[in-house]
Amino acid sequence: MEAKSGNSTTTRPRKVLLKDIAVLWTGEDESVHSGVSIFIDNGIIQWLGDHDSIPASLLRTDHVIEDMSNRLVTPGLINTHHHMYQSLTKCMARESQLFEWLQTLYPLWQHLTPEMIKKSSKFAIAELLLSGCTLTTDMLYLYPNGVELDDTISAAQELGIRFMPCRGAVTVGQSDGGLPPDVLVEKEEDVLQDMRRLIEMYHDSHDGAMIRIALAPCSPFSASETLMKKSAALAREYQNVMLHTHLAENSSDMQFMKTSVQKSLTEYLDDCGWNQKDCWFAHCVKLDEDKSDEAMKYFAERGLGVAHCPVSNCRLASGIAPVCDMLDKKVKVGMGVDGSASNDSGNLLSEARMALMLARVKAEKANALSAVEVLKMATSGGAAVLGRTDVGVIRAGMCGDLVGWRLDAPSFAGAFHSNAAVLSALVLGNGGDLRADYVMVDGKAVVRDGMLVGKHNMREITRAHNHAALMLAKSAREASVNKPRE
Ligand SMILES: [Zn+2]
Repeated sequence: MEAKSGNSTTTRPRKVLLKDIAVLWTGEDESVHSGVSIFIDNGIIQWLGDHDSIPASLLRTDHVIEDMSNRLVTPGLINTHHHMYQSLTKCMARESQLFEWLQTLYPLWQHLTPEMIKKSSKFAIAELLLSGCTLTTDMLYLYPNGVELDDTISAAQELGIRFMPCRGAVTVGQSDGGLPPDVLVEKEEDVLQDMRRLIEMYHDSHDGAMIRIALAPCSPFSASETLMKKSAALAREYQNVMLHTHLAENSSDMQFMKTSVQKSLTEYLDDCGWNQKDCWFAHCVKLDEDKSDEAMKYFAERGLGVAHCPVSNCRLASGIAPVCDMLDKKVKVGMGVDGSASNDSGNLLSEARMALMLARVKAEKANALSAVEVLKMATSGGAAVLGRTDVGVIRAGMCGDLVGWRLDAPSFAGAFHSNAAVLSALVLGNGGDLRADYVMVDGKAVVRDGMLVGKHNMREITRAHNHAALMLAKSAREASVNKPRE
């Protein structure tokens, strides 16, 4: 059969040959290869090896060729923590720590609408895809004005990213000692009912799933222990429904745990039943606060995962997470960009670079964390945290989720003395301007030549998003003007 050029069509072929990859990192170990090709069939990596040894039977099939001779190819990046709607409120409460930051933003978020969620999700997903992310989570924990988790799912389906939407929730308002205003609080029965609806409607437990639902009561200071327990029980009625929440983010968070919850972290997790390998936790900056290894060992022994979000932790002055200790003790760690109001962007490579720098500063050791180690955190580490065994590395039988990075980008200049240096430049040489040139999810190109494929246009997506952001600010302003005086 005649092979078609990848540039001649915008259709999505099911058989693709990534040909003559200049530099390949499979994500399995530290080794880096040249002159390799990869054959993907129906979304699954079928074969990889030296280009000269491609089986003739594959070459005879009808397939599309993507020329990778000037590309570094890596597994797709995996984002383990996000709040996509927050891109509507970037750069606000700029000098605040977590609780003050939340209390400033809750009154704005109260005016979110389904349309705003759709526009912001589309923007955040496009931003992630263009920076090489192929699988993302998103924790949506506020549901005012008819907002539904479905609003984020439709955006993911439109753009083609692999998605783990997390049905978040806040159920403890200020009048019950929680942090969020009462107006944003949902009833527990309603939350649980919606969680079940979403699992029944969207959750795919099989390998290769494009959508898996996770259940995510927001945090100890905004969701009740009852909801934590009931959501864990609900998740475990199904296969591969994961559980996610925020934990030990900063000192105030720990203080709340001590004075209001009145339990240690491990007592709290035991009592909630959040002590199994289907749980992962955002931040865990203070996991070592008691200066003992108790919490860290607990995480390692039970297979609990951590979403490491270093940029958000810096922006909110939360602290530096003890990532090297976690890795030494075999705790599962993935990378997360966290919400775009505490980052204020969504770029996993920037996150990886920050993780590397902070780990070295914290330990005062230049070998505390290597570029390959943070890249593993952003790929196979994330897959392990999310309970996925079908993504995160490039290997026959795994999903066709991978990224091509142009080697003539400034980030790689001067690093061609070895393939290991080229790979490291993805983290060390990237000042934040590197964009993915080619992104494949489920065997389909979703980014080509640095642009979203099909009818999607980043400028238009951004314009629509910015309009929604201005509408949100306007609604909040009008509500505050019209608020009756007490
Ligand atoms: Zn978060």
